[in-house]
Amino acid sequence: MANLAPSFVSSPSDSCRGSLRTSRISAIKLKVRETEQTHLNLGSSSRKKQGLRMNASKETPELMQGIRKDECKTAEQTEGYDSFSEMKQRFLTFKEKKYLGNLEFYRRLAKSQAPEFMVIACADSRVCPSVILGLEPGEAFMVRNVANLVPPFESGPSETNAALEFAVNSLKVKNILVSGHSCCGGIRALMSMENADGDNSSSFIKNWVIVGKNARLSTKEAASHLSFDQQCRHCEKESVNRSLLNLLTYPWIEEQVMRGNLSLHGGYYDFVDCTFEKWTLDYYKTISRGNKDMIAVKGRSFWS
Ligand SMILES: [Zn+2]
Repeated sequence: MANLAPSFVSSPSDSCRGSLRTSRISAIKLKVRETEQTHLNLGSSSRKKQGLRMNASKETPELMQGIRKDECKTAEQTEGYDSFSEMKQRFLTFKEKKYLGNLEFYRRLAKSQAPEFMVIACADSRVCPSVILGLEPGEAFMVRNVANLVPPFESGPSETNAALEFAVNSLKVKNILVSGHSCCGGIRALMSMENADGDNSSSFIKNWVIVGKNARLSTKEAASHLSFDQQCRHCEKESVNRSLLNLLTYPWIEEQVMRGNLSLHGGYYDFVDCTFEKWTLDYYKTISRGNKDMIAVKGRSFWS
């Protein structure tokens, strides 16, 4: 039996290891280091920070007081480095530049939220929707789980459908986007299973990703002639479509889709080539086919 946990943690696919891609990844790493350096510079650029602080402190002395107190502690702790000191600096930069710079916006947001989108994305650290799609606070209600899966209604309660219920029935989001991605370790775990109904395992990962068993089955049928890596890539997109179909098994979701109040979208982020593919479920064509395993899509677009 395949060892699933390590493959989920790492980026295992051979398709992700080409030399061209390696050079692109190196460029991305370089960019990341530049970004990190920028963050460090922001932390040490006291003249710039003071200017920002002066602007902000005119309106919010009580909020700025918190930052100043914190800064005193920082000055006392100049020795050593830990991950959270960098995180703290990023938070304080967010507070100064974004929060205090848009105080009215954030004060309105503190009272209520009315996001237009719900996004269901993978827990993978490389695919944060807020970063890659530029979603600002208040714009998207979000769930991230292993392999961005939506269980069908009959599966019973889960954190994913609890979030769906709140987003659709209370927040009344207009769009649900299920976003898959390249080199997904969760999908690889699903495809690695020896038994189509699960391996009767105690692994939490296996017991979760089996939610995508129909995507696994249809991938095995349609792409059995391809390599395992190519099958995984096929399943990464197939599982998104299966999740869109699973969304329709919730009566309160289908009702809103039928009324035209809610649209269901699929997405696929390839972080090797940095492209994003987006499509929309065509509800009436899907139900008119009379096949609950078939999805009809419209508005497919490719962002590159
Ligand atoms: Zn993933």
